[in-house]
Amino acid sequence: MNIDLIKEYINRYKKEDKRIFATSSFQTQSVVLLHILSRIDKNIPIYFINTGYHFPDTIRYRDYIVEKFGLNLFDVKPFVPKLLQNDRTSGNLLFTSDPDYCCYLNKIQPLEPVLERMDVWINGIRADQSTTRKEMKTEELTPNGTLRFHPMLDWTNKMIYQYINKHSLPKNPLEKKGYLSIGCEPCTIKFFANEDSRSGRWHGMSKTECGLHTDLVKKKYTRNVT
Ligand code: SF4
Repeated sequence: MNIDLIKEYINRYKKEDKRIFATSSFQTQSVVLLHILSRIDKNIPIYFINTGYHFPDTIRYRDYIVEKFGLNLFDVKPFVPKLLQNDRTSGNLLFTSDPDYCCYLNKIQPLEPVLERMDVWINGIRADQSTTRKEMKTEELTPNGTLRFHPMLDWTNKMIYQYINKHSLPKNPLEKKGYLSIGCEPCTIKFFANEDSRSGRWHGMSKTECGLHTDLVKKKYTRNVT
């Protein structure tokens, strides 16, 4: 989707009085959508799901981009303190034994109240990132009725870097250190050559998605933390 069309979608949502927000993980690849949104409307709220496990480099990069583009940033934090996020048996933090539940507490649950009060969620997922994402459409309803809008769905990795170069956009400094897909520090390792760019996430586990873009809201956890 080109920038004019993204603008058209956003203007239509505004005309319909829809409450719009975007999320960003502030990886290098996120910077394109953030730049586009800042040129369309700097007031669109950008939510950063601050799990408390991010690399300090990502937090610094986030602050730099927010300042540079003049973004309207909101930090979303988990409701359950880390002290209560322990595995019942080992006592270790949940990302070591139950990463799905860890993602639920730190990413999915904190976003639920935002989804309850907003109408349109703009996020930068791309079809070329995974087979799950390939199945997604430009607009999709979440189970709670919020509309997901995926303006970057048909962008390729090449297009992202062409845009970054054309506009001389800054990159997340972790990229230079070999991290291509960046999430929480405990679940991110450097990129392995010959594997897809998301191979550094939850490496060695069957998990490939945090659930925000797949099981969001559908999967309700009833388990209690210790
Ligand atoms: S990515 Fe890892 S540390 Fe972050 S919320 Fe998910 S399991 Fe926890």
